[in-house]
Amino acid sequence: MTDALSPPAFAMPRLLAGQKALVTGANSGIGAAVALALAQAGADVAINYVAGDDAAQAVVDRITATGVRAKAYKADVSDEAQVTAMFAQVVADFGTVDILVANAGLQRDAAFASMTLAQWNTVLGINLTGQFLCARAAVQEFQRRGIVPAISRAAGKIICMSSVHEVIPWGGHVNYAASKGGVKLMMESMAQELAPQHIRINSIAPGAIRTPINTAAWETPEAYDKLMTLVPYGRIGEPEDIGNAAVWLASDMADYIVGTTLFVDGGMTLYPGFSTNG
Ligand code: NAD
Repeated sequence: MTDALSPPAFAMPRLLAGQKALVTGANSGIGAAVALALAQAGADVAINYVAGDDAAQAVVDRITATGVRAKAYKADVSDEAQVTAMFAQVVADFGTVDILVANAGLQRDAAFASMTLAQWNTVLGINLTGQFLCARAAVQEFQRRGIVPAISRAAGKIICMSSVHEVIPWGGHVNYAASKGGVKLMMESMAQELAPQHIRINSIAPGAIRTPINTAAWETPEAYDKLMTLVPYGRIGEPEDIGNAAVWLASDMADYIVGTTLFVDGGMTLYPGFSTNG
């Protein structure tokens, strides 16, 4: 579907020059757009992915063409040993990590009564445990390196990719909503614990963004129109909407933003069903 209301192109301010970023799940959808936006803002970017070598290389090539460094790292974020090895390699290649965007995630939908333990464990393992493992490795690197004033006022920044479903219950997707609800309090608790060390941790909570994870919700005109009843702003979100938010949140322009969830959702969390008296 073509969307005439897509955001206009503009020159990205180079707010992240000299910084090193790691984006998980960066060979598709939101992660790819975040990686590209961070690069356009001047960061070198490590592209994590778990499957799809060609797609990962395509993101690397697109980023390299902007004049910064990029490299792909294949690792399952739910596997402790693979996450540890990935961070060690990224630090060896880039020198350090200043920004982690813990974005990798998936859905395994099922009616609650027939949801299998495997469906539950896969979603919690990647969406929640995966963010824990990557955030822990990033914090260890931030603590090792400390603040480098010429680079950033913070010792490091983490952005957890949450969802409007950290607050909106979602029948048929109990595992996914539980994972994002978990991300909310994990992020807030990490932020509270680590703020005294000038490590800034926040979340972005996307609404409906046009990516492969939710194709059924936007690919036909009927589905798109139904989706729009949930979005007061009247258009689907584009991955670039999340990339733009991530640049700002990771930059020193957001230096006093600690433990906050930034909803990027066109108003989806504003109870649109009540817009005409409910
Ligand atoms: P997507 O399917 O396009 O991308 C998901 C990415 O995660 C892919 O690159 C995939 O390879 C990666 N991934 C999956 N399992 C992994 C693993 N074990 N290890 C490493 N990487 C893994 O979907 P998307 O919409 O871009 O989703 C990105 C994030 O945004 C997810 O956390 C999702 O929950 C969140 N989100 C998306 C929307 C939306 O409307 N698209 C809304 C709210 C939140």
